[in-house]
Amino acid sequence: MCHQTKARLASVPDSVRIARSITTAHLEAWGATIADVAHGQVADAVLIVSELVANAVRHCTHELEVSLVCHRDRIEIAVTDDNPEPAVLKQPHPLVPGGRGLLLVDALAQQWGQQQVYGRKTVWARLSIPPGSALARNCSEPVGRSGP
Ligand SMILES: [Zn+2]
Repeated sequence: MCHQTKARLASVPDSVRIARSITTAHLEAWGATIADVAHGQVADAVLIVSELVANAVRHCTHELEVSLVCHRDRIEIAVTDDNPEPAVLKQPHPLVPGGRGLLLVDALAQQWGQQQVYGRKTVWARLSIPPGSALARNCSEPVGRSGP
């Protein structure tokens, strides 16, 4: 079985902090400790989940869902909210704070994207992990396939 977890969070600013701790706790429990080759990806994953959840909280009315999955070559982070409007990659004004969330995700992730399904939207991001990481252990995905 691939390492994976999901969490449902309220659409409140405090959910950003909860999503960060869930991400750190799971990636470390799955083996991305300081001794692991993918330890550097934990910080990137935490930054990405923070931005995706912060973005979702601004537009979502009820509940959002955070999904974290590891495969043999990558970490996949996805945040689903109840607003079908697409998330927008903005070029922020240099003097106006905020609005940089997706630019940061775009810079850190190898790939990101979004999809709308039944009035909800999922924004996902993918981070590569170096070969030999404990995060890849027990991945049940066929070799050569690359989701999502
Ligand atoms: Zn897998």
